[in-house]
Amino acid sequence: MVAERIDGKAFAAALRAKVGEHAARYAEAAGRPAGLAVVLVGEDPASQVYVRSKHKATVEAGMASFEHRLPADTEAATLLALVDQLNTDPAVDGILVQLPLPAHLDEQAVIAAISPDKDVDGFHVINAGRLSVGQPGFVPCTPLGCLMLLKDRLGDLSGLEAVVIGRSNIVGKPMAQLLTDANATVTIAHSRTRDLPAVVRRADIVVAAVGRPEMVKGDWIKPGACVIDVGINRVPAAEEGKTRLVGDVDFASAVEVAGSITPVPGGVGPMTIAVLLRNALVAAHRNAGLEAPADL
Ligand code: NDP
Repeated sequence: MVAERIDGKAFAAALRAKVGEHAARYAEAAGRPAGLAVVLVGEDPASQVYVRSKHKATVEAGMASFEHRLPADTEAATLLALVDQLNTDPAVDGILVQLPLPAHLDEQAVIAAISPDKDVDGFHVINAGRLSVGQPGFVPCTPLGCLMLLKDRLGDLSGLEAVVIGRSNIVGKPMAQLLTDANATVTIAHSRTRDLPAVVRRADIVVAAVGRPEMVKGDWIKPGACVIDVGINRVPAAEEGKTRLVGDVDFASAVEVAGSITPVPGGVGPMTIAVLLRNALVAAHRNAGLEAPADL
């Protein structure tokens, strides 16, 4: 059996197109476009690429993009003052501070300063709490994107055994919460889990968010399981001096056993920005006192 590849790129493109349609309607109803502000501190090359793609995608969706680039030695007070200004700016519906921040800045303090109603990354403790108790809030983009792919592929997740490998606040924990809310039976595995292969073998759904290249092997996978690979790891390529991207799952062996699987790249990765735009548009509706579209 060879697994079906889950085309995250196509799913994300369709979601972005849908966001674009709703964004146009929103702009007409609200009298202004929905707005997303992105703050980048320093010159981390990967962060620069992410911020550029977020800007491009925001504009393509017909939303206003506000980019704020600050030098690496920016003081905490300056960054917090900018966040505060964005919190009160009525043209800004969503605020994203690109992580990681330079070491001298306290990420938690900066996230805490973002208004929870503009926290489209869903990292604020208020939004983590809302997710935990089942109130509407903002859910981190990557796990929400994974859930969308899972529901699209499997439909109703009720009663399915799900194993989430990783317990970060950004991916693992919210993913486990979303799967629980979708009525899956969820196990969270991490670096202290005993006999991880045996735990993974129970799963109808495997979500790997570990940060270890190709760790999850094909013989860990239950035949027919749906495998969502969140990992983005850069490893040396066959050609000298070049690198390539791989996931946390050993795709070559897992594809032979799984029922469906996300590739890396082209699986979960493209979903993150699409869901960010979705979250920003939902924020815009809520901030304007409008009902957010049900199909987003
Ligand atoms: P973290 O480093 O914050 O968390 C990794 C988790 O994996 C931890 O809970 C850790 O356990 C667990 N872990 C580490 N080693 C093992 C092991 N040997 N066996 C079992 N569990 C282990 O990473 P993130 O959650 O931020 O990211 C995970 C991956 O997803 C990375 O590759 C990252 O690049 C990628 N990513 C991709 C995104 C996308 O857009 N596609 C977005 C965000 C992340 P413990 O808690 O015990 O230390």
